[in-house]
Amino acid sequence: MANQYEIVSDDSTVCASPRRSSFLPFHRPSIDDGEIEEMIDTLRSGWLTMGPKTLRFEEQFARYIGAKYALAVNSCTAGLHLALNAIGVGPGDEVITCTFTFAATAAVILHCGARPVLVDCLPDTLTIDPAQVEAAITPRTKAILPVHFAGHPCEMAEILAIASRHNISVIEDAAHALPAAYHGQRVGTLGDLAAFSFYAGKNITTGEGGMVTTNNDEYADRIAQRRLHGISRDAWKRYTDQGSWYYEITYPGFKYNMTDLNASLGIHQLRKCDRFHAKRQRCAALYLEGLSPLDEITLPTVQPEVEHAWHLFPIRLNLESLTVGRDSFIELLRQEKIGTSVHFIPLHMHPYYRQVFGYRLQDCPRALSAFERIISLPLYPEMTEEDVGDVVRAVTKIVAAHQRSAIHG
Ligand SMILES: *Cc1c(COP(=O)(O)O)cnc(C)c1O
Repeated sequence: MANQYEIVSDDSTVCASPRRSSFLPFHRPSIDDGEIEEMIDTLRSGWLTMGPKTLRFEEQFARYIGAKYALAVNSCTAGLHLALNAIGVGPGDEVITCTFTFAATAAVILHCGARPVLVDCLPDTLTIDPAQVEAAITPRTKAILPVHFAGHPCEMAEILAIASRHNISVIEDAAHALPAAYHGQRVGTLGDLAAFSFYAGKNITTGEGGMVTTNNDEYADRIAQRRLHGISRDAWKRYTDQGSWYYEITYPGFKYNMTDLNASLGIHQLRKCDRFHAKRQRCAALYLEGLSPLDEITLPTVQPEVEHAWHLFPIRLNLESLTVGRDSFIELLRQEKIGTSVHFIPLHMHPYYRQVFGYRLQDCPRALSAFERIISLPLYPEMTEEDVGDVVRAVTKIVAAHQRSAIHG
């Protein structure tokens, strides 16, 4: 394109800055010939569902993370459900998780018949606050379900210490956290179990899909069977010479397996994971540099002991110094042709949790405050440095046009 920018007049007193000519979407997956050819190969192979490619993807994923087992499933939600199921979460149990997360994190606790106990986040990384976890422990607590929000690992040392003191399990919601690390150790190997997401918008994608990782033999065995109807695949070897048609149901299982079609994408996405991560880090660094002059914006922080997966780049508006709120800011960015999103509407604010469990908005004041201010900017490997520059310019322009005067308030 010869002229990427058009000058658009603006009735504000701030001089007009160039506006993008095309809309920058919030996300675009990175798919190339590797995925496409692998998918065609699978279609021609005659084997579409879980089979050799799923096994290959699992082996490669386990090696990449440094986990003993990786079990492919059809979503992270399914993976979290299987993880809770594998440790025996059931009616009467409580599982502590962070309110600042997606619907799935707490829904799976309810699917087990247990109660999700929602606690507030830390003010800086917006990950679960270990002090609030400790305070929420009861004799019914069965597990802690920390969410590595935006790809920044939770305070795992403290969380694991609490879990070990109370003899309860830790299941990591690692949907955002490939390839994050904590003190040099990959996320997905820190707790008892972890679940990753390969949904279209996540750091690597299989369209839809997920992976459970664990170092525990027993949990891996349960999940391997329960993701596919609870069928004991080795039963015929033990009992008969009848052949492979024979199976035994050892548990009323689920239909949560991955297919070889999805794994075809995963194999190639995983190969590019380090490259994707380097691009995400580069874009995040450009954002941090470009937006740091703006006092009206709070930027994400990174603790020194972590490797951030940079799934999201959430900024927070300092509403006290702006004349527009978060929703208007998003609309102004849309007018600048920048797509954004909001992660998350805290769970305790939703009608279900308020009505069934009696949560009030002020029960998790940090999450409430973060929600009122937060905007996720576009961040993905397909973005160019010019795209990042366009977002920085658009945010800067909107801030300049809507500053609240310190003197006149
Ligand atoms: C995306 C997401 C999930 C669910 O992942 P699916 O693969 O879509 O089931 C769970 N937790 C968090 C925090 C997520 O962002």
